[in-house]
Amino acid sequence: MSSRGPEAAQLCRLGVSLFQRGLTPGRTGNLSVRLHDDTILVSPSGTSMGDLDPETLSRVSLDGTHLDGRPPSKETFLHLALYKARPEDRGVAHTHSTHAAAVSCLADLDDGNALPPLTAYYTMRVGRLPRLPYHAPGDDSLGPIAQSTARNHPALLLSNHGPIASGRDLATAVDIIEEIEETSCLFLLLDGRNIRHVPAQ
Ligand code: ZN
Repeated sequence: MSSRGPEAAQLCRLGVSLFQRGLTPGRTGNLSVRLHDDTILVSPSGTSMGDLDPETLSRVSLDGTHLDGRPPSKETFLHLALYKARPEDRGVAHTHSTHAAAVSCLADLDDGNALPPLTAYYTMRVGRLPRLPYHAPGDDSLGPIAQSTARNHPALLLSNHGPIASGRDLATAVDIIEEIEETSCLFLLLDGRNIRHVPAQ
């Protein structure tokens, strides 16, 4: 067991799982957990999700101050925006996974709800998926927009970038990210076909 606790070990395991299945190519993607003292453990800047070490994860405060570990991901401000919007949530996951990133680039998308209700699991886990306007990587003016939108949505799609999701724990946030990736793949496979949506409950 890592001296950083079970949350750190779980974060690294989930990172390896995402990386090995091709959901976080190269050094993309980042994961975080909120600890009991309200500090955040987050994957360090420039790190492969397949090569995370519990001992060197970054720890930051909710206001973004770097407390210990390696320098945090430059996308940490997005994680903090979701934690501030959703005080009950303990985990945030973000990827540039291929199909979701492809959908995030489409010009003729409903920005209020980027994906249709194709499967029951998607509607249960995600519901509506707002797409946020494009911001260059690291542009933290996206933070307040993400924070206000996340109050009513567990997941957001960043334009020309990828999804970010929040959950009651990190495994739940990762489940949501995977559901968005799979549904994005279905959506692209079904392009041009007449689609029958999951009936509204
Ligand atoms: Zn990103």
